[in-house]
Amino acid sequence: KVELTDLTKKFDDLVAVNGVSLTVKDGEFLTLVGPSGCGKSTILRCVTGLEVPTSGRILFDGKDVTDQQPQERGIAMVFQNYALYPHMTARRNMSFALEDESLSKAEIESRISETAEMLGIGDHLDQIPEELSGGQKQRVALGRSLVRNPDIILMDEPLSNLDAKLRIELRAELQKIHQELETTTVYVTHDQEEAMTMSDRIVVLNDGEIQQVSSPEAAYNRPENRFVADFIGSPG
Ligand code: ATP
Ligand code: MG
Repeated sequence: KVELTDLTKKFDDLVAVNGVSLTVKDGEFLTLVGPSGCGKSTILRCVTGLEVPTSGRILFDGKDVTDQQPQERGIAMVFQNYALYPHMTARRNMSFALEDESLSKAEIESRISETAEMLGIGDHLDQIPEELSGGQKQRVALGRSLVRNPDIILMDEPLSNLDAKLRIELRAELQKIHQELETTTVYVTHDQEEAMTMSDRIVVLNDGEIQQVSSPEAAYNRPENRFVADFIGSPG
């Protein structure tokens, strides 16, 4: 499990994340939602180690990782803009992430073909990103994370660059993959429907502070304050 205790991140005078305490359970699909600028990406970047918190601690299975480098944390992150290496084939983009893990060539090959198969990009492994569609690029980006068998996967609006049809298709695939692998997942989205349909629990944020942590249904039916009611769009 992942525990955040009193996590605060300031950028000069701006408090981006303000005293967030939160536990992500093993195997859970947890989604951060909230308006633009509320601190969602900053929380993910602190968990993955790309940002250093101003105060507070981050624990994985009880172990304090706050001072660890990103590559020590066993976490994979998927970004909105794919962040693929443009000059490398899909295969190479995926194998690159495995290079420092002392795996045999055969093991790397089999992990890549297994993952590519699961994501439906088995026929595209020799293409470079500019030869791939948006959906295929995002599948490669996802594959690059999954080949590492991460304990935790963080996704920052991974579907927001895709058109509506593809978004719904990939949403269903992500759910299927999550059910299969049960990787602990922290997901960020602007898309209310995505949050409501995919998540075990949602965390509603505003101004760097938690407003509610609950099942999507409870946030909808029993919002704990006005902000949640307005943001989730329930009648009460
Ligand atoms: P969005 O939905 O638009 O992606 P977000 O919830 O992910 O928003 P963050 O990116 O976490 O929001 O930003 C939270 C606040 O911190 C914002 O006010 C943002 O301008 C500020 N911020 C984020 N990164 C930096 C940075 N590197 N330097 C200065 N301010 C930053
Ligand atoms: Mg963001």
